[in-house]
This record gives sequence, structure tokens and C-alpha cells, in this order.
Amino acid sequence: MAQEQENGLRRYGNLINGVWQDAVQGEVLTLKNPSDSSDLALIARGTRADIDLAVTSARNALSGAWGKLTATERGRILHKISEAVLHEIDLLTVLEARDVGKPLTQARADVVALARYLEFYGASADKVHGDTLPYQNGFTVLSVYEPHGVTGHIIPWNYPMQILGRSLGAALAMGNAAVVKPAEEACLTILEFARIAHEAGLPAGALNVVTGLGVEAGAALSSHPDVNHISFTGSLRTGEAVQAAAAKNAVPVTLELGGKSPQIVFADADIERALPFLVNAGIQNAGQTCSASSRILVQRDVYEQVIAGMSERYRALKVGAAEADLSLGPVVSARQKAIVEDYLKLAEQDGLQIAAQGELAADAPENGAYVRPTLLRDVPPQHRLAQEEIFGPVQVIMPFDTEEEAVALANSTPYGLVCGVWTKDGARQLRMAHAVQAGQVFINNYGAGGGIELPFGGVKRSGHGREKGFEALYGFASLKTISVYHG
Ligand code: NAD
Repeated sequence: MAQEQENGLRRYGNLINGVWQDAVQGEVLTLKNPSDSSDLALIARGTRADIDLAVTSARNALSGAWGKLTATERGRILHKISEAVLHEIDLLTVLEARDVGKPLTQARADVVALARYLEFYGASADKVHGDTLPYQNGFTVLSVYEPHGVTGHIIPWNYPMQILGRSLGAALAMGNAAVVKPAEEACLTILEFARIAHEAGLPAGALNVVTGLGVEAGAALSSHPDVNHISFTGSLRTGEAVQAAAAKNAVPVTLELGGKSPQIVFADADIERALPFLVNAGIQNAGQTCSASSRILVQRDVYEQVIAGMSERYRALKVGAAEADLSLGPVVSARQKAIVEDYLKLAEQDGLQIAAQGELAADAPENGAYVRPTLLRDVPPQHRLAQEEIFGPVQVIMPFDTEEEAVALANSTPYGLVCGVWTKDGARQLRMAHAVQAGQVFINNYGAGGGIELPFGGVKRSGHGREKGFEALYGFASLKTISVYHG
């Protein structure tokens, strides 16, 4: 296995056809630990040549041992991998904490979620079935679901294990063979997962992992003529490039992009119950969550009360090293920190008012990519901080008067991923659920992250296609109609 030591650092290769190998061009990239900027590991800098090998390996797996398995057998393998993942929970937790900067508790929850995706899709593998269709006399017509073939999975750095679990779990359950391109910022748990999956019995070639830069390995995967489906999670800009590249080969694409998701608090809401959700959904994973609730819209009667409650919680937030397991770790990189700080500078320049901030722990390592969580109040709805995805621990809060105004504000960004609504009025709950533009609506709760069973995805610029839940399986399959004339 190409996991050797080099200058005291572990060096990972690509996993292609069940074999660890260095990048064809022999180059490596260095991963950093964002808690203190130390070097963490070396990964292969894969390019088009490595993607070619991986796609060929996946194609061969479809006509080999993997392609010959029944749906039940595929499901059993996914179950075994799920158990093996839980068996290695301690290793995966620490690696994710060091690689992404997640506090240990969050990293551990992500391992559990990965295992749960595999359990869910393992159990679903033999439940997808087609239909018989009424047609002319003398005919029997069937519809059957078939795997697309080779699926490409381009994964971001914020939740490597969870996002891998949801798309790979569904793709393998449906009988596809996968090529995964993890993010260059954080990918160690995906590489360890690939090892675990093979040790648990996944046939060679069903899963291939090629690390490297987005513009090299990622672009090669999304434009590859022998890939049949692309699942992309990441930024809007890259999503556009991936969709355009796949369009040249007429390949279907699932895009899970960003968000500026609101939580809307009406005056009749149970504010005490809402408060932890209002704050946690904004600062979890240092705000680097696609479904983060970065906008809080509050009916004017309770506006000051909600600001006071959130501010108290903000002041109790502690930021520090991932392994210190505080409320927040660092953001993923110095680059991401600079992006978030630029937004905070803009807020200051434009006179936006800080309602409250969390604290940096006294022992937080000096070179870590730390950002103090910040709640900004009275932010004008058209301000860039109220419109753009910051992808850091920054929330904006603003007042509204009427239900119509709340809907207009909620729908006023280019995004439409998730929305939370807090009210005890049952009719308003449903009116709001229908009126807001979002792929998921939570009434009196908020928590897209953990919902393995719940279809997830966006409208507008948040993307298209659904992952998670049973529904996602259909996205990883192609429907064939078989018409039989028998007289
Ligand atoms: P990103 O778009 O820069 O990178 C995502 C992945 O795409 C990485 O693996 C990267 O290597 C690859 N990539 C980069 N350029 C590419 C190219 N030209 N062709 C093909 N692949 C390429 O995004 P990021 O900075 O890693 O992640 C943050 C963004 O992802 C945020 O905007 C966030 O909202 C979004 N996100 C969305 C979801 C969701 O489910 N909707 C989940 C997590 C993150």
C-alpha cells in the first residue's frame, strides 16, 4: 500500500484498481493542519493520466467481479464496510480533526454519519425496482433501473466523509463503479476509507480514488468521455465549470452548491427552543457548511429578544485547536481565513454593527486559521454580507414585520438550499413551507446535516438533483423501457 513515510510525513498514493500507486507524473502535494499550520501528510498530485487509469479500472470492474454481484450482495458489502468504518472510528475522527480542523466531537459524528449512509444504502440496494406499464394488447412493457456505469464524485473539503458517504453509498448500491476526486485541502479520511472498504471486501475497481488539484484531476474527471455521471459538491463557480465540461459529453450532473439559508423567527415562536438552533446552524464546522443558516430573519416584536439570546450564546463560544474539542476549530486553511476576514473588513468599512462575538481560547496555537464567530445586526438585505455565501462563522440578523415581507426576504438571494421557520401557527407553518424557495424546509427545527434519510439538494443557484434518502438512488440509475411483443 502506498502509505509510506517521507520526511516524517505519511505519504498517500492514489487507489486505482485496488492498488496504491504514485501519481503518473510522480508529484505530491502537502496537506496542512489548519489548527497550527504544520505539515500533515503528502498526497499524490493526480492529473489526467491518473484519471484515465481510474476510469479504465472502474469500467473494467463493471464487466468484472463487481458488475456480476446481485443487488443483495452489493448491499451486504456496503454493510460490511459500514461496520468496518465504525471499527476504525478513533483513527478517522483524529484524521478528520487534523485535516479539516473540526472539533473532535463533530469529526466523530461525521464518521458515524458515513457509516450510517453505507448502512442505509446497503439496505436499499435490493429495494429499487422497476414497473410494468399498461400498453397495447399483445405487448408486455417493463421499466428497469440500470446503473449509469462509471460515476465521478468530486468532493469538497468541508465534510469529506459525509459527502463521500451520501454519493458513493447510493452510487455503489445501484451497481455503478466510482472514481472519487477528493478536495486537495482535506482528503485523508477518504483515502483511509478506500483502504477500509477494500479490506472489508469491496472488489477492486468498484472504488478508485485520485487526489490532486481541482483544475487538474477534477477537470479531467468532469470532462472525461468515458464517465457516465458526475456528482459534484462544491462552490457555484466550480459547479458551473463542471456542468459545462460534462455537457460536452452529454453526461448528467448532480450539483450540490452553496447557500445563504435563512431561519425565520415569528413573534409567536418558542424562542428558547429556537436559540440553540439559530446559533449552532451558523457556527457548526466554523460556518463551513453548505446548509449553514447564515441569515436570521426575526419579526420585529421579538427582534431584540432574539439578538440578546443569540448574543449571550455567542459570547460563550470558544475557538481553538480541533483536538481541544471546543465550540469551533479553525477554518480549513489560511486562504479560507483570509476570505472570511475580507468579509469582516467589508462589514466594518460599511459600518455594520457587531451584536456579539465568540472568544479565541488562550492556548489556541499561534499559526492556526482561527476566526472569531461574529453576529452582525441590522444588516441591509441587499448588502453583500446578506447576499453572498461567506463560508465562515458569520451570521447576519435582520428584522421583518409581516409574513409577506419574511417570504420576500427569505427568497431574496440567488440561493435556495434550506430554510428554517419558527412559529406555533400551523397554517402559517404550511404557508411558509410552500412559499419559500428551498430544497428542504424545517419547521421548528433546523438540521439538514444529519438527515441521512431525507432527500437533500437545492433550487436556484444552490444546484439541482437530490442526494441523501432513498430518492437519491434514482439519480444514480438510468431507466430503461423494454417493450415485448408476444401477440
Ligand atoms: P470548490 O468548488 O473549490 O471545490 C470542490 C471540489 O471541486 C474540490 O474537490 C476541488 O478540487 C474540485 N474542483 C475545483 N476546481 C475544479 C474544476 N475546474 N473542475 C473540476 N473539479 C474542480 O469548493 P470548496 O471551496 O472545496 O467548497 C466550498 C463550497 O462548496 C461552498 O460554496 C459550499 O457551499 C459548497 N458546498 C456545498 C455542499 C452541498 O451539499 N450543497 C456541501 C459542501 C460544500
